[in-house]
Amino acid sequence: MATPRPIRSMDPYAEQFWSYTQIKEFRLQKCSECGKFRWPPGPTCDRCLSDEFEWTLMAGRGKILSWTTFHRSYFPEYPAPHTTIVLELDEGPLFAAYPVKIGPEDLSEGMELSLRWTDGLDEFGDYNLPVFGPLTE
Ligand SMILES: [Zn+2]
Repeated sequence: MATPRPIRSMDPYAEQFWSYTQIKEFRLQKCSECGKFRWPPGPTCDRCLSDEFEWTLMAGRGKILSWTTFHRSYFPEYPAPHTTIVLELDEGPLFAAYPVKIGPEDLSEGMELSLRWTDGLDEFGDYNLPVFGPLTE
């Protein structure tokens, strides 16, 4: 059985993102007019207002911009201490995730991490969650 996680925020655009994770494809919306990536997904580009986009396969690499460790539990599925990172993906957009196979004491600004997958389960069903870990294990 997949790991229970907090309920995902869901709309028709998020649903498309999560459907790609079913086949472990990390895809973000990219504006077809100006090329800006959108995250979180939505109906229009916040730069040029175009509603045209494609789901672009991401390389799955990024650099740590920042991180924080929660010392209080906000979700029973994520008991404290729980660390969250914000990455700048190689393609430019910022992405929040949590680190795997590395402790918070070993994180540093600019450190490169790469995509891993872990499982998840919520009221919308089973899914794969993108997480990030060291380039080499
Ligand atoms: Zn645009």
